[in-house]
Amino acid sequence: MKRIAVFPGSFDPITTGHECIVRRAALLFDELIVAVGVNADKKSYFPVEKRIEWLKTTFMDLPNVHVDSYHGLTVEYCISKNAEYILRGLRTAADFEFERSVGQVNKMLHADIENIFLLSRPEHTPVNSSIVRDIHRNGGNIQPFVPAIVAKQIMEWQ
Ligand code: ADP
Repeated sequence: MKRIAVFPGSFDPITTGHECIVRRAALLFDELIVAVGVNADKKSYFPVEKRIEWLKTTFMDLPNVHVDSYHGLTVEYCISKNAEYILRGLRTAADFEFERSVGQVNKMLHADIENIFLLSRPEHTPVNSSIVRDIHRNGGNIQPFVPAIVAKQIMEWQ
């Protein structure tokens, strides 16, 4: 059986923190699907097509990493992909509390799917997409917080 994991998120946009989690997890699974959750109620800053494009460019050197998008429940998406693992990153105690509740509810919905958490590297703890959006909106330099290969594209998107 192939070990398939899904890394769900908004990736609005991808950050160095997300990139680090994916690169480390790519060594642990046969296949890792980075999946952009499209939520009709949640308005994004960057369009989903661009978020997907930047994810694909960032991970084009990793043959076992695929990028996709989905609507609806993450556990249902995992089942449709034969994925038995949901991967999430943890930065702080606040992340833990949030992830604990989502992860435990997912476990109640589908007991066969395991939650896997990777701790962020210390230098990535303060990095998050919402800060990147704020800097972008105000014309600041996002370069230190996003993968080098897509920094220019994200910076120039308007
Ligand atoms: P969501 O809206 O689902 O939280 P995000 O794109 O914000 O989507 O985050 C996706 C996942 O990446 C989450 O598990 C989040 O905790 C993790 N993550 C976000 N930023 C970092 C970071 N700097 N270091 C490690 N993990 C991170």
